[in-house]
Amino acid sequence: MLILVFVIGGAVMLWILKYKVLLPGIKQKQTEEKLYHVVYFDQLTGLPNRLLFLKCIEDFVATAKENSGSIAILYLDINRFKIINDIEGYDAGDKFLRDLAEELPSCLGESMILGRLGEDEFGILMPKVKSEEEVLQLCDKIIAAINRDWKISNRNFNIAVCIGIAVYPQHGETALELLKNADAAMYYAKERGKNYYEFYKPALSSRTLNQVSMENSIIKAINREEFILYYQSQIRIVDNKVVGVEALIRWHSPEHGIIPPDKFIPFAEENGLIDFIDRWVMKTACLQSRRWQELNKKPIRISINVSSKQFEDPKFIEYVRNTIDETKAGPAWLEVEITESALMKYPEETIKILNELKSMGIKIALDDFGTGYSSLAYLKKFPIDKLKIDKSFIRDITQNKENEAIVKTIIDLSKSMGIKVVAEGVETKEQLEILRKLNCDEVQGYLFSKPVEGIVIEEALIGRVEN
Ligand code: C2E
Ligand code: CA
Ligand code: CA
Repeated sequence: MLILVFVIGGAVMLWILKYKVLLPGIKQKQTEEKLYHVVYFDQLTGLPNRLLFLKCIEDFVATAKENSGSIAILYLDINRFKIINDIEGYDAGDKFLRDLAEELPSCLGESMILGRLGEDEFGILMPKVKSEEEVLQLCDKIIAAINRDWKISNRNFNIAVCIGIAVYPQHGETALELLKNADAAMYYAKERGKNYYEFYKPALSSRTLNQVSMENSIIKAINREEFILYYQSQIRIVDNKVVGVEALIRWHSPEHGIIPPDKFIPFAEENGLIDFIDRWVMKTACLQSRRWQELNKKPIRISINVSSKQFEDPKFIEYVRNTIDETKAGPAWLEVEITESALMKYPEETIKILNELKSMGIKIALDDFGTGYSSLAYLKKFPIDKLKIDKSFIRDITQNKENEAIVKTIIDLSKSMGIKVVAEGVETKEQLEILRKLNCDEVQGYLFSKPVEGIVIEEALIGRVEN
C-alpha cells in the first residue's frame, strides 16, 4: 500500500510537470504539491512525519489482520539531545538529527519504515515480525549504532537512546493505540536508564509514581493560586503596532521556581486537570481584558490557548458564555487558539463549537500550523480567522530556501481564503524582513518581546493612551 501511495504520488507529480507550461492553473497545483510534502514529511530530515508514519501503521495493521501476521512499532527517544541544542545551538542540533536520520536506515531490514515523530523522537515500523527475539535484536543494533561519541561542532557528545515497543495484535488494534502504547513503553524504558528498551505492558498505562506526584502538585497549585498568565505581544508588520497578545501560562512553584507549560500541560491533558487550568486561564484572561478595556478605550486583543480536550466537552461553550458575562469582557477582544490536532480529532463537533464561539464575536486562530496534518484546502471547512505558522519554519527561514517557499505558499493560500497569517518565533531582523517581503500580517517572537507579566503590557498600554 505504501509503495502504491508513492507510485500514485510520483504519477501525480509527473502529470503536474508535464502540463506545467500548458495549464494555467498550474501554480495552484505546485503549491498543493508543496503542501503535500509539508503535510506528510518531516522538513528537516525528509523522513515520513508522524501522520505518514501513522498511515503506514494503519496499512500494515490491515494487511496483518488479513494474514494473521504481527507487526512491531519501536518508539525511539534520543537522550541528551537537548544538551546539543543548548551547548552548540539549533544548527548543530539539526545537523545531528539529519546525520542520525541518514545513519539509522543501515540498521533496518527490508521494508521497515523509519519516521520522525517529534523533536528527538523517531519511530520504526517492522511490518513482519516472526519472533520477539527478532525485535530485541533490532533494538540492540539500534542502541549499538546510536550509543557512541558523536562529534558535533568539534565536541564529543555521548548519545544514548531509549526504545519502547508495541506489537500488533497483543498491544493494540489500531495505529493510534499502538503508537501510544509504544510511547508509554518508551517512558518506562527511560525511567530504567539510558539505552534500555521495554515492551508495552498494560500496567504501564496506569500512571507512574512521577505522574501521580505531578498530579497532586497541580491540584495544590490550583488551590494555592500558583499559576500566573504571561503575555507576549503580537505585532502588525505594516505599522509595527502591537495589535494583540498571547496569554501563556506559567507555574510559580514555591518548591521548583517557574515551571514552563510544556512541563505540566501534557500531564494535565492526560488526567483531566487541564479542564481546571483552561478554565482558570479563560477567566483570568477575561478579567485582564476587562481591566485593559477600562484603562484604554481601544484595548488589545488577547489570544487564549485552548486544549483539544475542551472540544469534547459539551459544557465548554456554556462556560465561555458565563465567563464573558460574569467578567464583562468584550468578546471582540478575545481570540481562541486551537491546534490542528484539535480540529482533526472531532471535526464535526469542533466546527459547531467554533461557529458558536464566532457567533459570540470571538476570533479563532489555528496554532502551530505546519506541525500537524491539515492541508489548507481542508481548512476551508472551518471558520478560521487566522493561522499561526509554527516557529520551526521561521527558525531557519533565512538560510533555508525551501522553508521560505513553504511559508510563502502558506501565506499566499491563506490570503486567498481570507485568513490572516501570524508568524511565530521571530527572533531576528532578517527573519522579519523576509516575512515582510512575503506579506505576512503579524509577527510574534523574542525580537519584539518575550512573554511578560500583565503589568508590563499594562504600562505600555497606559503609555499609548497618554501619548
Ligand atoms: P504555543 O502556543 O506555540 O506558544 C508559543 C511558545 O513559543 C511559548 O512557549 C513562547 O514563549 C515561545 N516563544 C515565543 N516567542 C519565541 C521565539 O521567538 N523563539 C522561541 N524559540 N520561542 C518563542 P511557552 O510559553 O513555553 O508555551 C509552550 C506551549 O504550552 C504553548 O505553545 C502552548 O501549546 C502551551 N500553553 C501555554 N500556555 C497555555 C495555556 O494557558 N493553556 C493551554 N492549554 N496551553 C498553554
Ligand atoms: Ca499558542
Ligand atoms: Ca504556537
